[in-house]
Amino acid sequence: MAILDTAALLAWPVERLSKGIVAKSQLNELEKVSIEKAMLIESIDLIWVSPDETNLVKARNAASNSGDLTKLSMVDIDLIALCFQLNEVLYTDDYRIQNTLTKAGKSWKSVIQKGIDDVWVWMKVCTGCGKSKVSDSNNKESICDHCGSPFKLKKKKKK
Ligand SMILES: [Zn+2]
Repeated sequence: MAILDTAALLAWPVERLSKGIVAKSQLNELEKVSIEKAMLIESIDLIWVSPDETNLVKARNAASNSGDLTKLSMVDIDLIALCFQLNEVLYTDDYRIQNTLTKAGKSWKSVIQKGIDDVWVWMKVCTGCGKSKVSDSNNKESICDHCGSPFKLKKKKKK
């Protein structure tokens, strides 16, 4: 399980968000970006948590120590507080949150990984009908379900 910031809620597919931990205050933040997206996010099985006062104090102290407090929003502080409260990793691309967490000895990961795997995907292309699909670990069949011809692997650049 991991805590997800609003950038992750906006960027990731629903399957990846499933069972993620989010702060209740993020829903308002999402509604400001997109009502449809907020409704979608509300409908999936996320774990909505409000940080308690003790951990909000720890979060504000940590942000103050790293010099980031004045630049962080209430939602940002909630997310940092959840890191203290639950001791889970936070997915965020906000460098002020990252800085606060690093100085407080808490862990975080980037929402958008810039690694090579995210630039290229392997596609399976049917040698018969030309139908293609993304090749991943959940998708190991080697014969096209459409025409029965074998697949060929092809590297494709992500959009
Ligand atoms: Zn085929």
